[in-house]
Amino acid sequence: MNIAIVGSGPSAFYTTQSLLREDQDIKIDIFEKLPAPFGLVRYGVAPDHQKTKNIIRLFSKYLDEENVAYFGNVNIGKDVSIELISQLYDAVIISSGASLDKELILEGDNYKNLFGSAEFVGWYNGNPLHSKLNPNFRTKNAVIIGNGNVALDCARILSKSKEELYQSDIMDYALDTLSTSAIENIYIIGRRTPKEAKFTISELREMGELKTFEPKVNYNKEDLEKILNSGELDTKVKKNIEVLLSFKSNQKKYKKKIIFKFLSSPYKIVSKNDQTHILLKKSVVKNNNIVVTNEVENIEAGIVISAIGYKVCPIDGLELDPTKNFFANKNGHIKNNIYTNGWASGASVGVIGTNKIGASLLTKKVLNEVKSKKPYASEKIKEFLKQKLIKFITKDDWKKLDKIEIDLAKENFTRAKLADLKTIFKYL
Ligand SMILES: Cc1cc2nc3c(=O)[nH]c(=O)nc-3n(C[C@H](O)[C@H](O)[C@H](O)COP(=O)(O)OP(=O)(O)OC[C@H]3O[C@@H](n4cnc5c(N)ncnc54)[C@H](O)[C@@H]3O)c2cc1C
Repeated sequence: MNIAIVGSGPSAFYTTQSLLREDQDIKIDIFEKLPAPFGLVRYGVAPDHQKTKNIIRLFSKYLDEENVAYFGNVNIGKDVSIELISQLYDAVIISSGASLDKELILEGDNYKNLFGSAEFVGWYNGNPLHSKLNPNFRTKNAVIIGNGNVALDCARILSKSKEELYQSDIMDYALDTLSTSAIENIYIIGRRTPKEAKFTISELREMGELKTFEPKVNYNKEDLEKILNSGELDTKVKKNIEVLLSFKSNQKKYKKKIIFKFLSSPYKIVSKNDQTHILLKKSVVKNNNIVVTNEVENIEAGIVISAIGYKVCPIDGLELDPTKNFFANKNGHIKNNIYTNGWASGASVGVIGTNKIGASLLTKKVLNEVKSKKPYASEKIKEFLKQKLIKFITKDDWKKLDKIEIDLAKENFTRAKLADLKTIFKYL
């Protein structure tokens, strides 16, 4: 059996793991549009969460398998068409994630210090597609829109000092730019109530452990207690509310604040005389429904980051579902011998481990439905890429780059990621 996997994030590697468990003779070629493997584990997970990134060790073990080949810097849909890859392999699995920001619709949103979290997170994590972003932190207020962990990641990176980022692999250029920061207030804005927030407990707790910022919660203590005592609360929600309550009674007196604002819907950005404001419509809870009112709040916002979720980057030859957030598929089947899993196949939610179940289910489906009949395609693909003058990165190249990145790390940091293609190819 001869399988192509498009993407090299958690879904790709959990699929590789499942496939090899089912059949040791399967030949797997992994195609990744970026030079380096590991998807959002490398470019999404926050640089100060190195323990989470340890999963890379497991993925590297599968990358090392004899039957697994790696083609980095190869964009499927552009460098190699879906038609060709589908012809050459018994099955193609699209594990290409969801790398684009869902659009934040604001009136007057052509403000240039507004970033989607995919690009902002990509910037501090050294994603070659976003390494040239130029955020300006010489401003008093930052506004982050969204109530999930990505919003918390962005707030944490904005609020940590260089020392607090020791033992991380944050990009050097990001540290330099962050060192110019004049940010004193980081607003985290949610449209709904704390009950609906998607934070996870450990990430939320970290907001109370920062060295120079303290968390403030703009929500009545009594209303938080009401939620807590409302019964039938999900444990995760209960813990979040308890943490938010503990923030309300914190005794710190730091000048710099992370301010949680709930029931606030951003709808407009206004820039005038070098100052930008974001306008929010306040909501109220009436009979368990959230109702947007005409009461407007105005926050000065020198930098705005929208962390409201992700959608797939389209691939020529594959249809999107009606929401345009993922590839149209039926239980993982797209068409012919093409399948999908992970964030490419449905709503982009869930942690790294969540993708393991999907990978295992899809593996069973593919092995049930696809018959092995095609010769191994690696050599043909290599020839094709060479003819098209597409420089691809092999797994030996990656091993070399991996070592170089670790060797280049500055004192107190774990790795200096290479984010520039020219530099990468200079090393190879
Ligand atoms: C900012 C952020 C922080 C997160 N932090 C955590 C965390 O701390 N802990 C946790 O458990 N989970 C975290 N998650 C969730 C976790 O990262 C995802 O569950 C997981 O990465 C999804 O895996 P995936 O393989 O489906 O997609 P991805 O990880 O996105 O991998 C997809 C890969 O496909 C590649 N690709 C895309 N298109 C093409 C193409 N046309 N050709 C070739 N390759 C292509 C992409 O470059 C990418 O490398 C975070 C997510 C985000 C967005």
